[in-house]
Amino acid sequence: MKARLFTPGPTPVPEETLLELAKPVTYHRSAEAKAILAEMTEDLKYVFQTTNTVLTITSSGTGGMDAAVSSSLAAGEKAILLTAGRWGERWRGVLKAYGINIVAVEVPYGKAVTPEMLDAALKANPDAKAVLATLSETSTGVGHDLEAFGKLVAKTDAILIVDAISGLGAMECHTDKWNLDIVVTGSQKALMLPPGLAFVSVNEKAWKKIDANPVRNFYLDLRRYRKSIAESDTPFTPANTLIKAQRASLKRIRAEGIENLWARHAKMATAARAAVKAMGLELFAERPNNGLTVITVPAGVDGSATLKAMEKKYGFKLADGQDNMKGKIWRLSHMGYTDAFEVLGAFAALELVLAESGFKVEPGVGVAAFQKAFAGK
Ligand SMILES: *Cc1c(COP(=O)(O)O)cnc(C)c1O
Repeated sequence: MKARLFTPGPTPVPEETLLELAKPVTYHRSAEAKAILAEMTEDLKYVFQTTNTVLTITSSGTGGMDAAVSSSLAAGEKAILLTAGRWGERWRGVLKAYGINIVAVEVPYGKAVTPEMLDAALKANPDAKAVLATLSETSTGVGHDLEAFGKLVAKTDAILIVDAISGLGAMECHTDKWNLDIVVTGSQKALMLPPGLAFVSVNEKAWKKIDANPVRNFYLDLRRYRKSIAESDTPFTPANTLIKAQRASLKRIRAEGIENLWARHAKMATAARAAVKAMGLELFAERPNNGLTVITVPAGVDGSATLKAMEKKYGFKLADGQDNMKGKIWRLSHMGYTDAFEVLGAFAALELVLAESGFKVEPGVGVAAFQKAFAGK
């Protein structure tokens, strides 16, 4: 049986990228290695839509989040945390670890933090040094209005630090135009690579704050990465096979064009949402993002058993809810190297499994709705 990966990280990797990973390992301080890092960094700047340099850290995405917080904030400083799910809570965990004074703006899972809530928090906390936000809250499928957040934070002295892991490369995101001071992403979501690299962009406003901050972490101090990247290098041995492979996946994005990529994800998300509704199911996110579709498990259906059956019988691997959301939602990723016909297959399999479990759904209704929406009908 063919294994089909629909989890919102890791995601499928294109063939030409997999072939890069099969090549012999090379030395990481060679002129060739520097040229590859430089080329990958230029392509990352394009994906981030920034003229800032983008720093590459060998770690999962959380390493980038840790680097952002530890490099820019001192113990006891105040930060406004916007949290709408598990990944907002990851920010909370990092902030706590470094002794930051947290002012939390919290909404229930499935809801989005609004610009009005941020505005009120900024007004009530003029001494806040940073705002922590999440572009795509992968645990619930919510997408946040970072353009509006950026406008609000730009008027203050605080820096806006964005977790764009799973969002960047799937949803529209303009690092410079939207005043996003630090943006973090990871390789294994929309950037079509296995796990292992984190990427961080930092603008002038954030560097000012970072340069005045005490050293709080050795490996993740962003100043080290800035110094090295000026010479197209990294401070420590990088996962250089992944850097080569990332260059290959980014070439794909370059060739497609970032606006076309955003439009492709938007079209896919629209079609997926139409399928969900036609099947008599509900979307979990009130402000859904374009990288994944999160479906509420209907009453009377065993959510986790449904996913197990999809994988065991048909090879489709979707993601369950995390922590206390387990069994309550299904998360279907359509970011990166996933096309409409694969997503159609996932809905066809879901229809079959649901019908077998006794949930009333006419085979083909979701598939037909997907096709119609995809065709713009
Ligand atoms: C996947 C994900 C993370 C965690 O990244 P790791 O690579 O597992 O450290 C953080 N934030 C968001 C929004 C994610 O989707």
